[in-house]
Order: sequence, then C-alpha cells, then structure tokens
Amino acid sequence: MARITLDHIAHSYKANPQKPTDYALREVHHVWNDGGAYALLGPSGCGKTTLLNIISGLLTPSKGRLLFGDKDVTRLPTEARNIAQVFQFPVIYDTMTVHDNLAFPLRNRGIPESEVERAVKETAEMIGLTAMLKKRAKGLTADEKQKISLGRGVVRSDVNAILFDEPLTVIDPHMKWMLRSQLKHLHKRVGHTMIYVTHDQTEALSFADKVVVMYEGEVVQIGTPADLFEKPKHTFVGYFIGSPGMNVLPAKVAGDKASVGEHEIALRAPYAELSGKTELGIRPEFVKLVHGNDGVPVKVSAVEDIGRYRIVRTRLGAHEVNAVLPEGTPVPAEPRAVFDTSRLNVYLDSHLVEARQ
Ligand code: ADP
Ligand code: MG
Repeated sequence: MARITLDHIAHSYKANPQKPTDYALREVHHVWNDGGAYALLGPSGCGKTTLLNIISGLLTPSKGRLLFGDKDVTRLPTEARNIAQVFQFPVIYDTMTVHDNLAFPLRNRGIPESEVERAVKETAEMIGLTAMLKKRAKGLTADEKQKISLGRGVVRSDVNAILFDEPLTVIDPHMKWMLRSQLKHLHKRVGHTMIYVTHDQTEALSFADKVVVMYEGEVVQIGTPADLFEKPKHTFVGYFIGSPGMNVLPAKVAGDKASVGEHEIALRAPYAELSGKTELGIRPEFVKLVHGNDGVPVKVSAVEDIGRYRIVRTRLGAHEVNAVLPEGTPVPAEPRAVFDTSRLNVYLDSHLVEARQ
C-alpha cells in the first residue's frame, strides 16, 4: 500500500495546450494518505477518469509527477504499479468460470493455490456469487459480470491501491447499497488505499473518509463529508453537495454587514474590503421562516413534503432561497427568512473568505 503524491499534475488531451480550458485536468497538487478511502466526486466531464487513469498509468500526465511512497512512477506502465482498477463496465474473461476469473489476478502473480482458494471464497461471499463459482461468465447478466469485475479488483490484498471508476453504474439500487457497504467494510478490514470515482454525492459521502470534489478540471475541495457540508470552500461544493444545495445570493459586503438588493443581513464578524464578485452562502437547513420583523421578506413559491422534513422554496427579490424545515413546522403567511449568522459563508469570486479575526 502506498501514500500517493500528485505533484503539480496537469493533463491536456490537446497536442499544444495554450489556455487553462485546454486542460482536462488543471494543476492538482496533493498528498493522499496511505490507507485512506477517497472519493472523487464531480459532474460528468470534470476530469475524474482522467485523474484516475493518471494514477493507474493508463495515461501519462502532460505535466507533473506522480509518486507512490517516495518512488516516482509517472512513466511506469500500469503493470509495474501494483494497483487494481475496476471500470464502469465489466472487464472479465467470458470463457472462464466465475471462480477462475476471480483467481486470475492471484494465479497471475504466482500466489500458492491454497491462498488462491481462500481469497476466491472470501471474495465470492462478498460480492454474493458463491453459488455461481462454477458457472462460465459468458451466460451471466450484466450486473453479475460487473460483480465479477469488482471481485477481481478486490481479490488481491497486496496492492498499492484499488481504483474504482463508477463501478456500480450497471448494478441495481438495492445491490448498490449492499456492495458499497461491503467495500467500506473491506477497507476497514484490509486498509487498502481506495479511490472511488462517482458523480453521485450519496455514494461518495457514504463510502469515503475524504471526498475530493472536482469541478471543471480542478480539485475545489478535499474534506470530510462534514467539512463539505459545513464549510464549502467553493460555491460549487455548496451547490453540488446537499439536497437542495446551499443558497447562494449575490451580495455587497461591508464590514460586518451584507446587503442583498435593499435588504441588510448581519454577518458574524467584520470582513476586509472585498473587490470582485461577492456572494453569501447559507444552507437551507440553516434558514428559518418566521413571522415578525426579523430577517428579510420572502415569497413562498413551493412547499415539498419529504417525510421528516419539508423543503420550502421561496424568493428574495429575484433570488431563490430554499429552507429545510422539520416536519410540521408551519410556514407563516408573510414569512421572513432568518439566516443563522454562525452558518453564513461569504464567497469572493466563488471561493470562501474568512472574516477578519
Ligand atoms: P469525468 O470522468 O469526470 O466524466 P473525464 O476525465 O472523462 O471526465 O473527461 C474530462 C474532459 O476531458 C472532458 O471534457 C472530456 O470530453 C475530455 N476527454 C476525456 N477523454 C478524452 C480523450 N481520450 N480525448 C480527448 N478528450 C478527452
Ligand atoms: Mg469518467
């Protein structure tokens, strides 16, 4: 297993990249801990697969170095990196049995047969294919084949890292949940470094200790699920994580006051003078709707009851402000939105800024 260092890595699929937008992956510079469970989360096209393929060696980055431990592996082929990778669609040997498919990565490395049998048995249990070990892969369904792929990825215990690229796309929702728990369990038990690519926040937040949020070829935040929720470092993170996402309102900020249109909103501490695009961010969970003189006046446009809570969609002037209220909380006739000052974030050009101390 290995610590993974991304040392100023960038990649462009163009022969002669000039401007930042020519890069599918802008500069990424981070150290990922040995034994960590990471999720790479972001919308389609943001560069997740590009980054994963650089780590696995399917792609050589245009710039920067990749280290496993202290060793520079930037130009080493995949076979020399000692990693396992699971793709979105099955990569298996159709003519082999399920058993032999699972055994292949082990036999390939000359592991003794007794150990092969033990690992195959354990893996088959994990992916729920014990009863099918003797069947040929050929006749199986797409999701059974994908389970074999997953099994082949996790069967070896001596890899530097296991990389998963949206591995559960073709698996049905209930099974998805089960396999994800199994992977998490495996991570706890064996302690592999695992990197799991997904565009699904639930999948990322439930699998990973650290979520790496990507947007337009950049890593915009690496944090625990709680960090991403409480302190989104970029408005995109606030918007992408959470359901509904963080409310983002264009505002002017002066000292410890912000104004949205003609409405004034108190901040928890004074801010230095900000020049650029300034915005306030507040999660719907920290918005209250009250009657009276506090807060700012909003107009309710829709109320959605979702079991234990309700989402109230409102407008403050031209801007949408969502509130998440516990089940049964009444919505006043002429509501005013009160923002929890301690949860209010200020953004300058989409990046979080801290108040002056
Ligand atoms: P994701 O996995 O997050 O959906 P990708 O890493 O596959 O994103 O793609 C990032 C960007 O690079 C996209 O704009 C995509 O169109 C482009 N891209 C991906 N693969 C290639 C390729 N082989 N050649 C040219 N452009 C590519
Ligand atoms: Mg992808």
